[in-house]
Amino acid sequence: MQTLCRFLVVLSCCAYFSFAHAQWQSFSSTAMTTKLDLEFWLEDKLRAKALSQRVFDEFDHIEAVMTRYGDTSELSIINRLAGKQTSPVSADLFKVLQNSQQVSILSDGAFDMTFASVGYLYDFRQRRVPTSLEIKQQKKAIDYRHVQLNEKTQTVHFTHPNVKVDLGGIAKGYAVDQGIQILKQAGVQFARLSAGGDMRLLGDKKGKPWIVGIKDPRATLKKQNHVVALPLSDVSISTSGDYERFFIDDNGERIHHIISPETGRSVSGVQSVSVIGPDTITTDGLSTAIFVLGTKKGLALVNRLKGIDVIIIDAQRQLHFSEGLMTPAPP
Ligand code: ADP
Ligand code: MG
Repeated sequence: MQTLCRFLVVLSCCAYFSFAHAQWQSFSSTAMTTKLDLEFWLEDKLRAKALSQRVFDEFDHIEAVMTRYGDTSELSIINRLAGKQTSPVSADLFKVLQNSQQVSILSDGAFDMTFASVGYLYDFRQRRVPTSLEIKQQKKAIDYRHVQLNEKTQTVHFTHPNVKVDLGGIAKGYAVDQGIQILKQAGVQFARLSAGGDMRLLGDKKGKPWIVGIKDPRATLKKQNHVVALPLSDVSISTSGDYERFFIDDNGERIHHIISPETGRSVSGVQSVSVIGPDTITTDGLSTAIFVLGTKKGLALVNRLKGIDVIIIDAQRQLHFSEGLMTPAPP
């Protein structure tokens, strides 16, 4: 296990949100099949309520554009058309496609939005896993290079007819960034906005850092432990885990929602990955990517990237920290 840095406090259990002050305004909602939590500093209660509504409306808008569910989202339309013809894309969707592509390049295809041609064959509620033959047939359509983006014309074209794009590994991060942007433009200086495992902090908590807990990936409903508490300000943090959408199959194997584009199977080797960085679209995409890469390659990638850190809990429940989080060696 790595030495903890002086900024980290390892706790077996920590209560980490406090809402004591009257001028901290707190709101919650649901979007993108996830709980949204928003807290920010503003004197005027009515204005705060209206502002929170604008933030939540933005989540609904992004969900309507990027959801894989239903036929009417822009993503579903692109999934039907872009294999046949070059198709125009809205600014929001283009930005997320472009960022997905960048994370794919950085992670050498560990993050791949086209994993969906196999990914959509899984059904976690119905405990359905694709057969080896199905995976073999659909895997040909998995390759982020099949998605051709043209920045000038803001269009997309798939170079393989069976390509399906899914943005579940990155769209929430984009929505959190957009929400924080709305707050910033309205003059808010201190805020915390989270959508499930994706969180962005605007400023600090008025003179103190925000304390963010990382869940024990094997916590139960009865025992909601956090394994690490991090004092953070003005950064984003995203966690990808094998405990969000999963089932245990008849062989005792954990089948979960993060899929290796190489094998078409759920990734094993780590239980959770938390990435800290400057914005949430980056941390969300990278947390999924590093989950797929595993401990060794994941740490190597993060240690190459400026301004990014990671905490990995591996399958043996060991903690690993990137270099930026470790105590510097004594002179
Ligand atoms: P969560 O959605 O729980 O916040 P993640 O950010 O890790 O967790 O995203 C997991 C989601 O990413 C999956 O539900 C799926 O939509 C998508 N995904 C799964 N495997 C990959 C992959 N190899 N590359 C890109 N996206 C993936
Ligand atoms: Mg992610």
